[in-house]
Amino acid sequence: MTATILDGRALAKTMRAELNAAVEEFKTKHGIVPTIAVVRVGEDPASVRYSGTIQKTAAKRGMESALHTLPETATQEAIVALVAKLNADEGVHGIMVQEPLPKGIDEAAVKAALSPDKDVDGVHPVNAGRLAQVAPVGRPPMVEPFFVPATPAGGLEILKRYGVELKGKHAVVVGRSNIVGKPMAMLLLRENATVTICHSRTADLPAVCRTADILCAAVGRAKMIKGDWIKPGAVVIDFGVNFVDGKMCGDVDLETAQEVAGMITPVPGGTGPMTNVMLMWNVIEAARRKAGA
Ligand code: NDP
Repeated sequence: MTATILDGRALAKTMRAELNAAVEEFKTKHGIVPTIAVVRVGEDPASVRYSGTIQKTAAKRGMESALHTLPETATQEAIVALVAKLNADEGVHGIMVQEPLPKGIDEAAVKAALSPDKDVDGVHPVNAGRLAQVAPVGRPPMVEPFFVPATPAGGLEILKRYGVELKGKHAVVVGRSNIVGKPMAMLLLRENATVTICHSRTADLPAVCRTADILCAAVGRAKMIKGDWIKPGAVVIDFGVNFVDGKMCGDVDLETAQEVAGMITPVPGGTGPMTNVMLMWNVIEAARRKAGA
């Protein structure tokens, strides 16, 4: 079997076009430009690249983005004060604080300082808690609106747009970070999948992976998941971003996995391109909620 490639790059392109239309409609109706503020502390190269991408994406969509930089030596108080200022700024709809923050900064305290209504990266405990408490699809909603981190939101969007049935399926998520693994597991649970979450202490990980109808990898270990860890016909979502000899690869060994899987996201060109688009959707959603739209 050769797996169908789940083309995140093409889907991201489609969703950018949809986003353009949504931004245009919102601006026409409300006369407000959806605006994201990005906070970067220090000059971590990956963060510098990502903030550049956010600015470019926002500009192309007719959205506003403002980059707020603080030096590597910034104190906890200075970072929290900047977040508080952006929380109070009526013109800012979404705030993203880039990670990693410099050593010695309490990341949890910075996240907790964000207004949950502007937390478009879905990192505030209120947003994580609401995702954990949300009713399954098909039951009456129990909690207020919330934001989901962009990367797992993108993974779910790929599954949905490719028509993958989730209800009643066994989903295995490898990785339990707050930004990818755990929220992905919660999203799949909400979609009525039966979810197993794995991590570095999971016993016989290959055997658990082999039971997955839907296998999601968010580990950060290049090509760790091999073809013989995959149930024939399974759908594989690879969030991994790793570099081997300067070449990007995922957590899944694409070469052996695509011989067994039914569908698979490649790296590059799978979940990666979706992240940025989903973040922008969260920004327009924040602007809509503020406008009562
Ligand atoms: P973290 O390092 O925060 O989490 C990694 C998770 O993998 C942990 O839960 C860890 O377990 C688990 N793990 C590590 N080693 C093993 C192992 N040998 N066997 C089983 N589980 C293991 O990473 P992130 O969640 O932030 O990122 C995961 C991957 O996704 C990375 O490659 C990252 O670059 C990528 N990423 C991609 C994005 C995108 O846009 N596509 C955005 C964000 C991240 P434990 O909890 O026990 O330590």
